Amino acid sequence: MGKRVNNIIHVFLEENRDRIIGLAHEIFGYAELAEEEMKSAAALKAYLEAFGFAVEEGVGGMPTALRAVKGSGKPVIGFLGEYDALPALDQPPVPHYCGDAEKPGHGCGHNLLGTGSATAAAALAYAMEKQGLPGTVVFYGCPAEEILKGKIVMAGNGCFSELDAALSWHPGMENRCGELAYLAMDSVRFHFHGKPAHASAAPYRGRSALDATELMNIGANYLREHVTDDVRIHYAPLPADLKPNVVPAEAGSWYFVRARERENLDDVVNRLLDIARGAALMTSTTVDWEFLSRGYGTLVNFTLCRLMHEVMCEVGHTGFCENEKAFAAELAKNSGFAPGAEILDETFDTPKGEIFYMTGSTDVSDVSQIVPTVNIRVACSPKGCVLHSWQFAACADSDIGRRGLMLAAEYLAQAGLRLMTEPQLLEAVKKEYQDKAKGFKPLM
Ligand SMILES: [Zn+2]
Repeated sequence: MGKRVNNIIHVFLEENRDRIIGLAHEIFGYAELAEEEMKSAAALKAYLEAFGFAVEEGVGGMPTALRAVKGSGKPVIGFLGEYDALPALDQPPVPHYCGDAEKPGHGCGHNLLGTGSATAAAALAYAMEKQGLPGTVVFYGCPAEEILKGKIVMAGNGCFSELDAALSWHPGMENRCGELAYLAMDSVRFHFHGKPAHASAAPYRGRSALDATELMNIGANYLREHVTDDVRIHYAPLPADLKPNVVPAEAGSWYFVRARERENLDDVVNRLLDIARGAALMTSTTVDWEFLSRGYGTLVNFTLCRLMHEVMCEVGHTGFCENEKAFAAELAKNSGFAPGAEILDETFDTPKGEIFYMTGSTDVSDVSQIVPTVNIRVACSPKGCVLHSWQFAACADSDIGRRGLMLAAEYLAQAGLRLMTEPQLLEAVKKEYQDKAKGFKPLM
Protein backbone atom coordinates (compact mmCIF):
# COMPACT_ATOMS: atom_id res chain seq x y z
CA MET A 1 0.00 0.00 0.00
CA GLY A 2 1.15 3.50 -0.85
CA LYS A 3 1.89 6.11 1.79
CA ARG A 4 -1.31 8.06 1.14
CA VAL A 5 -3.56 5.07 1.83
CA ASN A 6 -5.47 5.76 5.03
CA ASN A 7 -5.25 2.84 7.42
CA ILE A 8 -8.41 3.72 9.35
CA ILE A 9 -10.47 3.17 6.17
CA HIS A 10 -8.60 -0.04 5.40
CA VAL A 11 -9.16 -1.48 8.88
CA PHE A 12 -12.83 -0.40 8.91
CA LEU A 13 -13.41 -2.39 5.72
CA GLU A 14 -11.59 -5.47 7.03
CA GLU A 15 -13.48 -5.39 10.33
CA ASN A 16 -16.88 -5.00 8.64
CA ARG A 17 -16.23 -7.48 5.85
CA ASP A 18 -18.96 -9.97 6.81
CA ARG A 19 -21.56 -7.23 7.16
CA ILE A 20 -20.61 -5.69 3.78
CA ILE A 21 -20.70 -8.99 1.92
CA GLY A 22 -23.89 -9.91 3.78
CA LEU A 23 -25.67 -6.78 2.48
CA ALA A 24 -24.61 -7.45 -1.13
CA HIS A 25 -25.86 -11.03 -0.79
CA GLU A 26 -29.14 -9.88 0.76
CA ILE A 27 -29.83 -7.40 -2.10
CA PHE A 28 -28.83 -10.09 -4.63
CA GLY A 29 -31.56 -12.27 -3.12
CA TYR A 30 -34.22 -9.53 -3.38
CA ALA A 31 -33.48 -8.89 -7.09
CA GLU A 32 -36.11 -6.16 -7.32
CA LEU A 33 -36.89 -4.49 -10.66
CA ALA A 34 -36.64 -0.73 -11.27
CA GLU A 35 -39.04 1.30 -9.11
CA GLU A 36 -39.87 -1.77 -7.00
CA GLU A 37 -36.71 -1.73 -4.85
CA MET A 38 -38.53 -1.50 -1.48
CA LYS A 39 -36.62 -4.24 0.35
CA SER A 40 -33.25 -3.30 -1.14
CA ALA A 41 -33.70 0.38 -0.16
CA ALA A 42 -34.81 -0.63 3.35
CA ALA A 43 -31.72 -2.85 3.74
CA LEU A 44 -29.39 -0.02 2.66
CA LYS A 45 -31.18 2.40 4.99
CA ALA A 46 -30.77 0.08 8.00
CA TYR A 47 -27.12 -0.55 7.08
CA LEU A 48 -26.24 3.15 6.94
CA GLU A 49 -28.25 3.99 10.07
CA ALA A 50 -26.23 1.39 11.94
CA PHE A 51 -23.11 3.36 10.92
CA GLY A 52 -24.59 6.61 12.26
CA PHE A 53 -26.06 8.13 9.09
CA ALA A 54 -29.31 10.12 9.09
CA VAL A 55 -31.34 8.60 6.26
CA GLU A 56 -34.25 10.16 4.34
CA GLU A 57 -36.43 7.96 2.15
CA GLY A 58 -38.33 8.85 -1.01
CA VAL A 59 -36.08 11.80 -1.93
CA GLY A 60 -36.16 13.54 -5.31
CA GLY A 61 -39.60 12.26 -6.27
CA MET A 62 -38.56 8.59 -6.31
CA PRO A 63 -40.23 6.46 -3.58
CA THR A 64 -37.28 4.02 -3.36
CA ALA A 65 -34.52 6.67 -3.39
CA LEU A 66 -32.42 7.45 -0.31
CA ARG A 67 -30.31 10.34 0.95
CA ALA A 68 -28.03 9.40 3.84
CA VAL A 69 -25.86 12.02 5.58
CA LYS A 70 -23.10 11.96 8.18
CA GLY A 71 -20.72 14.71 9.32
CA SER A 72 -21.04 18.46 8.89
CA GLY A 73 -19.63 21.43 7.03
CA LYS A 74 -17.59 21.61 3.83
CA PRO A 75 -16.53 19.86 1.69
CA VAL A 76 -19.55 17.75 0.80
CA ILE A 77 -18.54 14.51 -0.93
CA GLY A 78 -21.22 12.25 -2.40
CA PHE A 79 -21.42 8.58 -3.34
CA LEU A 80 -23.96 7.22 -5.83
CA GLY A 81 -25.43 3.74 -5.39
CA GLU A 82 -27.83 1.66 -7.50
CA TYR A 83 -29.71 -1.50 -6.50
CA ASP A 84 -32.24 -2.43 -9.20
CA ALA A 85 -32.26 -5.81 -10.96
CA LEU A 86 -33.16 -6.90 -14.52
CA PRO A 87 -35.99 -9.11 -15.81
CA ALA A 88 -35.31 -12.78 -16.59
CA LEU A 89 -31.72 -12.81 -15.28
CA ASP A 90 -32.13 -14.92 -12.18
CA GLN A 91 -29.03 -17.07 -11.61
CA PRO A 92 -27.35 -18.43 -8.47
CA PRO A 93 -23.56 -18.05 -8.01
CA VAL A 94 -22.61 -21.20 -9.91
CA PRO A 95 -20.68 -21.33 -13.22
CA HIS A 96 -23.40 -23.03 -15.30
CA TYR A 97 -26.86 -21.74 -16.17
CA CYS A 98 -29.56 -22.87 -13.79
CA GLY A 99 -31.63 -19.71 -13.27
CA ASP A 100 -35.39 -19.34 -13.35
CA ALA A 101 -36.10 -17.61 -16.69
CA GLU A 102 -39.26 -16.05 -15.23
CA LYS A 103 -37.48 -14.27 -12.37
CA PRO A 104 -35.45 -11.04 -12.20
CA GLY A 105 -31.78 -11.18 -11.32
CA HIS A 106 -28.73 -9.01 -10.69
CA GLY A 107 -27.23 -9.38 -14.18
CA CYS A 108 -25.75 -5.85 -13.93
CA GLY A 109 -24.28 -6.36 -10.44
CA HIS A 110 -26.20 -3.49 -8.82
CA ASN A 111 -26.30 -5.47 -5.55
CA LEU A 112 -22.53 -4.91 -5.46
CA LEU A 113 -22.80 -1.34 -6.76
CA GLY A 114 -25.20 -0.05 -4.08
CA THR A 115 -23.41 -1.89 -1.30
CA GLY A 116 -19.95 -0.74 -2.45
CA SER A 117 -20.92 2.94 -2.65
CA ALA A 118 -22.79 2.87 0.68
CA THR A 119 -19.78 1.16 2.27
CA ALA A 120 -17.39 3.76 0.85
CA ALA A 121 -19.58 6.46 2.41
CA ALA A 122 -19.60 4.63 5.76
CA ALA A 123 -15.82 4.06 5.72
CA LEU A 124 -15.07 7.68 4.81
CA ALA A 125 -17.46 9.08 7.46
CA TYR A 126 -15.86 6.78 10.06
CA ALA A 127 -12.35 7.92 9.16
CA MET A 128 -13.41 11.59 9.25
CA GLU A 129 -14.98 11.17 12.69
CA LYS A 130 -11.93 9.32 14.07
CA GLN A 131 -9.62 12.06 12.86
CA GLY A 132 -11.92 14.95 13.84
CA LEU A 133 -12.06 16.30 10.28
CA PRO A 134 -14.73 18.73 9.00
CA GLY A 135 -16.81 17.69 6.01
CA THR A 136 -20.08 16.00 5.08
CA VAL A 137 -20.50 12.58 3.51
CA VAL A 138 -23.69 12.00 1.51
CA PHE A 139 -24.85 8.70 0.03
CA TYR A 140 -27.53 8.94 -2.64
CA GLY A 141 -29.43 5.70 -3.12
CA CYS A 142 -30.53 5.90 -6.75
CA PRO A 143 -33.23 3.48 -7.93
CA ALA A 144 -34.36 2.63 -11.46
CA GLU A 145 -31.04 3.01 -13.30
CA GLU A 146 -31.93 0.18 -15.66
CA ILE A 147 -34.78 2.22 -17.14
CA LEU A 148 -32.59 5.34 -17.19
CA LYS A 149 -34.88 7.16 -14.79
CA GLY A 150 -33.81 7.35 -11.12
CA LYS A 151 -31.06 9.99 -11.17
CA ILE A 152 -32.77 11.93 -13.98
CA VAL A 153 -35.92 12.42 -11.91
CA MET A 154 -33.89 13.03 -8.74
CA ALA A 155 -31.71 15.61 -10.53
CA GLY A 156 -34.81 17.38 -11.85
CA ASN A 157 -36.01 17.61 -8.24
CA GLY A 158 -32.84 19.25 -6.94
CA CYS A 159 -30.78 16.28 -5.75
CA PHE A 160 -26.94 16.21 -6.11
CA SER A 161 -26.35 19.99 -6.39
CA GLU A 162 -25.28 20.12 -2.71
CA LEU A 163 -22.20 18.01 -3.56
CA ASP A 164 -18.68 19.31 -4.25
CA ALA A 165 -17.96 16.05 -6.07
CA ALA A 166 -19.73 12.72 -6.69
CA LEU A 167 -17.97 9.35 -6.77
CA SER A 168 -19.40 6.17 -8.19
CA TRP A 169 -18.41 2.84 -9.68
CA HIS A 170 -19.85 0.03 -11.74
CA PRO A 171 -18.96 -3.65 -11.53
CA GLY A 172 -17.38 -4.74 -14.82
CA MET A 173 -14.78 -6.97 -16.46
CA GLU A 174 -11.86 -4.59 -15.93
CA ASN A 175 -10.47 -1.95 -13.59
CA ARG A 176 -10.77 1.49 -15.18
CA CYS A 177 -10.25 4.96 -13.73
CA GLY A 178 -13.33 6.45 -15.39
CA GLU A 179 -12.26 8.10 -18.66
CA LEU A 180 -15.44 6.69 -20.19
CA ALA A 181 -18.33 8.69 -21.60
CA TYR A 182 -21.82 7.30 -22.10
CA LEU A 183 -24.30 8.52 -24.69
CA ALA A 184 -27.14 10.96 -24.11
CA MET A 185 -30.42 9.10 -24.63
CA ASP A 186 -34.15 9.66 -25.10
CA SER A 187 -36.67 6.89 -24.55
CA VAL A 188 -39.92 7.79 -26.30
CA ARG A 189 -43.11 5.90 -27.10
CA PHE A 190 -45.17 6.80 -30.18
CA HIS A 191 -48.88 5.95 -30.25
CA PHE A 192 -50.88 6.14 -33.48
CA HIS A 193 -54.66 6.25 -33.37
CA GLY A 194 -56.82 5.27 -36.37
CA LYS A 195 -60.28 3.84 -37.05
CA PRO A 196 -61.13 0.13 -36.85
CA ALA A 197 -63.00 -1.63 -39.65
CA HIS A 198 -63.43 -5.12 -41.09
CA ALA A 199 -60.22 -5.51 -43.07
CA SER A 200 -61.89 -7.43 -45.89
CA ALA A 201 -65.56 -6.34 -45.86
CA ALA A 202 -65.05 -2.57 -45.36
CA PRO A 203 -61.35 -1.66 -45.46
CA TYR A 204 -62.19 1.78 -46.93
CA ARG A 205 -63.77 2.70 -43.60
CA GLY A 206 -60.60 1.90 -41.65
CA ARG A 207 -57.59 4.11 -40.91
CA SER A 208 -54.71 1.88 -39.87
CA ALA A 209 -52.49 2.80 -36.92
CA LEU A 210 -50.27 -0.11 -37.94
CA ASP A 211 -49.72 1.36 -41.42
CA ALA A 212 -48.70 4.60 -39.73
CA THR A 213 -46.30 2.72 -37.43
CA GLU A 214 -44.70 0.90 -40.38
CA LEU A 215 -44.30 4.13 -42.35
CA MET A 216 -42.79 5.86 -39.35
CA ASN A 217 -40.26 3.05 -38.89
CA ILE A 218 -39.36 3.21 -42.59
CA GLY A 219 -38.87 6.96 -42.28
CA ALA A 220 -36.66 6.45 -39.23
CA ASN A 221 -34.57 3.92 -41.14
CA TYR A 222 -34.04 6.47 -43.96
CA LEU A 223 -33.08 9.04 -41.30
CA ARG A 224 -30.09 6.86 -40.34
CA GLU A 225 -28.12 7.97 -43.41
CA HIS A 226 -28.29 11.61 -42.41
CA VAL A 227 -27.08 11.54 -38.83
CA THR A 228 -23.55 11.54 -37.38
CA ASP A 229 -21.81 8.20 -36.80
CA ASP A 230 -22.28 8.29 -33.02
CA VAL A 231 -26.09 8.27 -33.27
CA ARG A 232 -27.95 5.09 -32.37
CA ILE A 233 -31.64 4.54 -33.21
CA HIS A 234 -33.43 1.38 -32.11
CA TYR A 235 -37.10 0.52 -31.72
CA ALA A 236 -39.52 -2.21 -30.77
CA PRO A 237 -43.26 -2.59 -31.53
CA LEU A 238 -45.54 -1.74 -28.65
CA PRO A 239 -47.54 -4.69 -27.40
CA ALA A 240 -50.95 -4.89 -29.05
CA ASP A 241 -53.39 -7.69 -29.59
CA LEU A 242 -53.87 -7.28 -33.36
CA LYS A 243 -55.75 -9.55 -35.79
CA PRO A 244 -55.33 -9.46 -39.58
CA ASN A 245 -59.09 -9.20 -40.19
CA VAL A 246 -59.48 -5.95 -38.23
CA VAL A 247 -57.87 -2.70 -39.38
CA PRO A 248 -55.77 -1.83 -36.32
CA ALA A 249 -56.96 1.37 -34.67
CA GLU A 250 -54.11 1.43 -32.13
CA ALA A 251 -50.43 0.69 -32.75
CA GLY A 252 -47.06 2.25 -32.15
CA SER A 253 -43.31 1.93 -31.57
CA TRP A 254 -41.00 2.46 -28.63
CA TYR A 255 -37.76 4.21 -29.60
CA PHE A 256 -34.39 4.69 -27.92
CA VAL A 257 -32.33 7.40 -29.64
CA ARG A 258 -28.76 8.13 -28.52
CA ALA A 259 -25.91 10.49 -29.38
CA ARG A 260 -22.73 11.78 -27.77
CA GLU A 261 -23.91 15.39 -27.55
CA ARG A 262 -27.28 16.43 -26.19
CA GLU A 263 -27.67 19.17 -28.86
CA ASN A 264 -27.20 16.63 -31.65
CA LEU A 265 -29.64 14.24 -29.99
CA ASP A 266 -32.25 17.00 -29.72
CA ASP A 267 -31.93 17.62 -33.46
CA VAL A 268 -32.27 13.92 -34.36
CA VAL A 269 -35.26 13.47 -32.05
CA ASN A 270 -36.98 16.56 -33.50
CA ARG A 271 -36.57 15.04 -36.97
CA LEU A 272 -38.02 11.75 -35.67
CA LEU A 273 -41.06 13.64 -34.34
CA ASP A 274 -41.53 15.10 -37.83
CA ILE A 275 -41.37 11.58 -39.27
CA ALA A 276 -44.12 10.50 -36.85
CA ARG A 277 -46.25 13.51 -37.85
CA GLY A 278 -45.65 12.68 -41.52
CA ALA A 279 -46.68 9.06 -41.04
CA ALA A 280 -49.90 10.20 -39.34
CA LEU A 281 -50.61 12.62 -42.20
CA MET A 282 -50.02 9.89 -44.82
CA THR A 283 -52.48 7.52 -43.14
CA SER A 284 -55.18 9.90 -41.85
CA THR A 285 -54.40 8.83 -38.31
CA THR A 286 -53.28 10.87 -35.32
CA VAL A 287 -50.13 10.48 -33.28
CA ASP A 288 -48.99 11.38 -29.80
CA TRP A 289 -45.85 10.50 -27.91
CA GLU A 290 -44.54 10.24 -24.37
CA PHE A 291 -40.95 10.64 -23.28
CA LEU A 292 -40.18 8.01 -20.65
CA SER A 293 -36.67 9.31 -20.14
CA ARG A 294 -34.43 12.08 -21.45
CA GLY A 295 -30.81 12.01 -20.33
CA TYR A 296 -27.51 13.77 -20.91
CA GLY A 297 -24.17 12.36 -22.04
CA THR A 298 -21.28 12.07 -19.57
CA LEU A 299 -19.14 15.07 -18.65
CA VAL A 300 -15.81 13.38 -17.88
CA ASN A 301 -13.65 15.03 -15.20
CA PHE A 302 -10.05 14.07 -15.99
CA THR A 303 -8.74 15.46 -12.68
CA LEU A 304 -11.00 13.02 -10.84
CA CYS A 305 -9.96 10.18 -13.19
CA ARG A 306 -6.29 10.85 -12.42
CA LEU A 307 -7.08 10.86 -8.69
CA MET A 308 -8.89 7.53 -9.03
CA HIS A 309 -5.95 6.08 -10.95
CA GLU A 310 -3.50 7.17 -8.23
CA VAL A 311 -5.69 5.77 -5.49
CA MET A 312 -6.32 2.48 -7.30
CA CYS A 313 -2.58 1.98 -7.84
CA GLU A 314 -1.72 2.91 -4.26
CA VAL A 315 -4.37 0.65 -2.71
CA GLY A 316 -3.49 -2.00 -5.27
CA HIS A 317 -5.28 -5.25 -6.01
CA THR A 318 -5.55 -8.12 -3.57
CA GLY A 319 -5.21 -10.66 -6.40
CA PHE A 320 -7.73 -13.33 -7.36
CA CYS A 321 -7.25 -16.69 -5.61
CA GLU A 322 -7.15 -20.15 -7.22
CA ASN A 323 -10.83 -20.87 -6.45
CA GLU A 324 -11.90 -17.65 -8.13
CA LYS A 325 -9.75 -18.42 -11.18
CA ALA A 326 -11.25 -21.92 -11.36
CA PHE A 327 -14.79 -20.43 -11.20
CA ALA A 328 -13.92 -18.01 -14.03
CA ALA A 329 -12.45 -20.83 -16.16
CA GLU A 330 -15.49 -23.04 -15.64
CA LEU A 331 -17.87 -20.17 -16.43
CA ALA A 332 -15.96 -19.39 -19.65
CA LYS A 333 -15.95 -23.06 -20.66
CA ASN A 334 -19.69 -23.53 -19.99
CA SER A 335 -20.51 -20.34 -21.90
CA GLY A 336 -18.46 -21.16 -24.98
CA PHE A 337 -16.35 -18.02 -24.50
CA ALA A 338 -13.23 -17.59 -26.65
CA PRO A 339 -9.84 -18.42 -25.07
CA GLY A 340 -8.67 -15.65 -22.72
CA ALA A 341 -12.23 -14.73 -21.72
CA GLU A 342 -11.69 -16.38 -18.32
CA ILE A 343 -8.97 -13.90 -17.33
CA LEU A 344 -9.61 -11.87 -14.18
CA ASP A 345 -8.22 -8.33 -14.39
CA GLU A 346 -5.83 -7.32 -11.61
CA THR A 347 -4.27 -4.41 -13.54
CA PHE A 348 -5.17 -0.72 -13.79
CA ASP A 349 -5.59 1.34 -16.96
CA THR A 350 -3.48 4.47 -17.40
CA PRO A 351 -5.29 7.81 -17.69
CA LYS A 352 -4.75 9.30 -21.15
CA GLY A 353 -6.65 12.56 -20.82
CA GLU A 354 -8.92 11.36 -23.63
CA ILE A 355 -12.48 10.15 -23.63
CA PHE A 356 -13.30 6.57 -24.55
CA TYR A 357 -16.89 6.57 -25.82
CA MET A 358 -19.20 3.80 -24.74
CA THR A 359 -22.22 2.89 -26.86
CA GLY A 360 -24.58 2.58 -23.90
CA SER A 361 -26.12 5.16 -21.60
CA THR A 362 -26.36 5.68 -17.84
CA ASP A 363 -28.20 8.17 -15.66
CA VAL A 364 -24.91 8.86 -13.82
CA SER A 365 -24.28 11.19 -16.78
CA ASP A 366 -26.98 13.59 -15.57
CA VAL A 367 -25.19 13.88 -12.22
CA SER A 368 -21.92 14.56 -14.09
CA GLN A 369 -23.57 17.62 -15.67
CA ILE A 370 -24.51 19.02 -12.22
CA VAL A 371 -21.36 18.36 -10.15
CA PRO A 372 -17.88 16.96 -10.89
CA THR A 373 -18.42 13.20 -11.08
CA VAL A 374 -16.30 10.12 -11.62
CA ASN A 375 -17.57 6.64 -12.38
CA ILE A 376 -14.87 3.95 -12.19
CA ARG A 377 -15.10 0.31 -13.19
CA VAL A 378 -13.90 -2.49 -10.96
CA ALA A 379 -13.48 -6.08 -12.15
CA CYS A 380 -16.19 -8.28 -10.65
CA SER A 381 -16.24 -10.88 -13.45
CA PRO A 382 -13.86 -12.48 -15.95
CA LYS A 383 -13.12 -10.63 -19.20
CA GLY A 384 -15.63 -12.51 -21.37
CA CYS A 385 -18.57 -11.64 -19.19
CA VAL A 386 -20.72 -8.83 -20.53
CA LEU A 387 -23.21 -6.95 -18.38
CA HIS A 388 -26.87 -8.01 -18.49
CA SER A 389 -26.10 -11.74 -18.76
CA TRP A 390 -26.71 -14.75 -16.52
CA GLN A 391 -22.92 -15.11 -16.36
CA PHE A 392 -22.60 -11.66 -14.82
CA ALA A 393 -25.41 -12.46 -12.36
CA ALA A 394 -23.47 -15.59 -11.33
CA CYS A 395 -20.40 -13.45 -10.62
CA ALA A 396 -22.39 -10.82 -8.70
CA ASP A 397 -22.91 -13.16 -5.74
CA SER A 398 -19.60 -15.01 -6.08
CA ASP A 399 -16.21 -14.50 -4.40
CA ILE A 400 -15.05 -12.78 -7.62
CA GLY A 401 -17.77 -10.16 -7.25
CA ARG A 402 -17.12 -9.83 -3.52
CA ARG A 403 -13.43 -9.15 -4.12
CA GLY A 404 -14.37 -6.40 -6.58
CA LEU A 405 -16.89 -5.01 -4.09
CA MET A 406 -14.34 -4.73 -1.26
CA LEU A 407 -11.79 -3.09 -3.57
CA ALA A 408 -14.32 -0.65 -5.02
CA ALA A 409 -15.40 0.45 -1.54
CA GLU A 410 -11.77 1.12 -0.60
CA TYR A 411 -10.91 2.97 -3.84
CA LEU A 412 -13.92 5.26 -3.47
CA ALA A 413 -13.47 5.88 0.27
CA GLN A 414 -9.75 6.65 -0.07
CA ALA A 415 -10.43 9.02 -2.97
CA GLY A 416 -13.19 10.69 -0.93
CA LEU A 417 -10.75 11.29 1.93
CA ARG A 418 -8.24 12.92 -0.39
CA LEU A 419 -10.93 15.27 -1.71
CA MET A 420 -11.94 16.07 1.88
CA THR A 421 -8.37 16.83 2.99
CA GLU A 422 -6.65 18.32 -0.09
CA PRO A 423 -8.36 21.66 -0.86
CA GLN A 424 -6.16 22.34 -3.91
CA LEU A 425 -7.12 19.01 -5.42
CA LEU A 426 -10.82 19.69 -4.89
CA GLU A 427 -10.39 23.17 -6.37
CA ALA A 428 -8.75 21.71 -9.50
CA VAL A 429 -11.61 19.22 -9.84
CA LYS A 430 -14.20 21.98 -9.56
CA LYS A 431 -12.33 24.29 -11.94
CA GLU A 432 -12.24 21.61 -14.63
CA TYR A 433 -15.98 21.09 -14.17
CA GLN A 434 -16.71 24.83 -14.36
CA ASP A 435 -14.60 25.23 -17.51
CA LYS A 436 -16.51 22.47 -19.31
CA ALA A 437 -20.06 22.49 -17.93
CA LYS A 438 -22.73 24.00 -20.17
CA GLY A 439 -25.34 24.16 -17.43
CA PHE A 440 -27.82 21.49 -16.46
CA LYS A 441 -31.48 21.97 -17.17
CA PRO A 442 -34.00 19.22 -16.45
CA LEU A 443 -35.30 17.74 -19.71
CA MET A 444 -38.45 16.14 -18.31
ZN1 LIG B 1 -25.67 -1.34 -14.41
